[in-house]
Amino acid sequence: MTTDTWQHTKIVCTLGPATDRPGVLEGMIRGGMDVARINLSHGTQDDHARRIQAVRVVSRTLARPVSILADLPGPKFRLGELPGGALQLQDGARVCLAGAADAADCLPLDERMLLDALRTGQSVYLADGAVELLVKAAVPGRVECEVRAGGTVRSGSGVNVPELILSALIPTERDRLGLAFAASQAIDWIGVSFVQDADDLARVRAALAGAYQPLLMAKIEKRRALDTLDAIIESADAIMVARGDLGVETNLAEIPLVQKRIIAAANARGRPVVTATQMLESMVEHERPTRAEVTDIANAVLDGTDAVMLSAESAIGRNPVATVNMLRRVITATNAEYAASMAQARLRARGAVPVDEAIGFSACQLAEKIDARAIVVHGQSLSQIAAIARFRPRAPIVALTDSAGVHRSLTLVSGVSPLHVPALADAHTRIGRAQDWLYAHTPARPGEPVVVLSAFAGAGDTVDTLQVVRLSG
Ligand code: PEP
Repeated sequence: MTTDTWQHTKIVCTLGPATDRPGVLEGMIRGGMDVARINLSHGTQDDHARRIQAVRVVSRTLARPVSILADLPGPKFRLGELPGGALQLQDGARVCLAGAADAADCLPLDERMLLDALRTGQSVYLADGAVELLVKAAVPGRVECEVRAGGTVRSGSGVNVPELILSALIPTERDRLGLAFAASQAIDWIGVSFVQDADDLARVRAALAGAYQPLLMAKIEKRRALDTLDAIIESADAIMVARGDLGVETNLAEIPLVQKRIIAAANARGRPVVTATQMLESMVEHERPTRAEVTDIANAVLDGTDAVMLSAESAIGRNPVATVNMLRRVITATNAEYAASMAQARLRARGAVPVDEAIGFSACQLAEKIDARAIVVHGQSLSQIAAIARFRPRAPIVALTDSAGVHRSLTLVSGVSPLHVPALADAHTRIGRAQDWLYAHTPARPGEPVVVLSAFAGAGDTVDTLQVVRLSG
C-alpha cells in the first residue's frame, strides 16, 4: 500500500542492510518516510555514503523531500573482546573491570577515565541494562564489583553508569570523524548522542567551524539531561526522546511520563521532537505488530510528538516497507480522530505569548474557525515554521521556501508540507503552488478558504499579516 495523502506526524527510518534490497527505499518513501537516518555507531562510511546517495536519488525521482539525519556515536562505553565472545554472570558473583591489557581475569573496559571515576556503591549496567553490577571497591584502573542482576554479557556490550556525570566528553574523537563525514555528505541533521547539557551542543557547533552548519538534534538519553532539559531545548534545533538508552540511564518504569514531559517541553518551545526506539520492535521478525506497540505509537502522537522513528525495524527488519505502512496506518487513524482536538485543547490552555507566536496562534485559530483547507506560509527558517506548527492545527501548514536546506529540514515537523519555490516567486505564484499541492494531496476544492501568513511589504522576513484567500478553479 502506498500513500499520496498528507499526514500530520512524520516518520524517521534508520537505513541498514534491509533497506539495500531492491525497491525497499522506494516503498518506504511512498509509504511515508520523511527522514532517513544513519547511525554512525554502526557500519562503514562507504555504506552510509552509498545509502544517502540512494535515498537522494529515489527522493528526487518521486519528487518527495526526504532529509538525512546522522547520529553521532557519542561517549558510549563498551566492553572489549570477551573470551568466546560472551560470558554468563551469576547473581552474587564477584567480577572486576579493568583495561584489557591490565588484568586478564577482569571484564575488559579500555576506558581509563571511567574506571578512575567509579566509586563504591555505584551501579554499573551492562547489556542494555539487563545486567547490574554494584561497585564494591575501586583503585585506580581496577574496579571490583558484585553482580546484583546476572545475565549474559557479550563482547562490545554497552556500559552505563547513570549516577556518573563526566563532563566535556562531547564531541568524542569518533564524533569529530562523524562530523567530517557529515560535512562531506551535506547531511541535514546531526543527532548528538548522550547530551548532558547545553554546553555539549555548543562544543559540537564549535567543532563545525566552516560553511557546513547542520541542524542539531539533541538525543535525550542521560539522567543529567532531564535536569538541564530546558537549556538543552533552547540550544537545540530539535529533540529526540531516545528511549533505548534512556531506559537504562533512568528508571524504566518512568519512561512514559518522561516521554510526555520531554515532548511537552519541546512543543512549548517550538522545537520539533522525535519519539524513538522499539515502536514496532516485534516487526523486526514478524509481519504483524503487538497491540501494545500500536498503542505506543498512538500515544506518542497524542503526546504531541512531531515524528516517530524506526531503528532495527527498518535497518535490519524482515519487511521495512510493511513496517512503515503499519506506522503510517496507526498515525493516520490517530491523527484523524484525536490528535488535532487534543492539541487544540492544549492551545486553549496556553497563556500570553510573544507577538510572533501570537500571529501563528491566531492563524491556527482562524483556520479552525473557518474550517480552512490549509495555512499557507512563506518561510525562511525551520524555527519560524516550527513556531506555528507547535499549535498543531488540524489543517496542513503548506510551507513555501526558496531554501533547499529549509525545505528538507521541514520534513521533520508535524503538520508541515514543505514546498520549494524559486527565490523571486511572487505571492500569486506561491499561492498557485500551494493550491496545486492541496488539490493533489487533500480533498480541497475551488472556493474553499485558506489562511495565508505573510510578511507585510517592507517588513522583512517577519511574518505579521494574516489573510483569508479562496482557492481558485
Ligand atoms: C536510543 O537509545 O533510543 C537511540 C535512539 O539511540 P541509538 O539507536 O544510537 O542507541
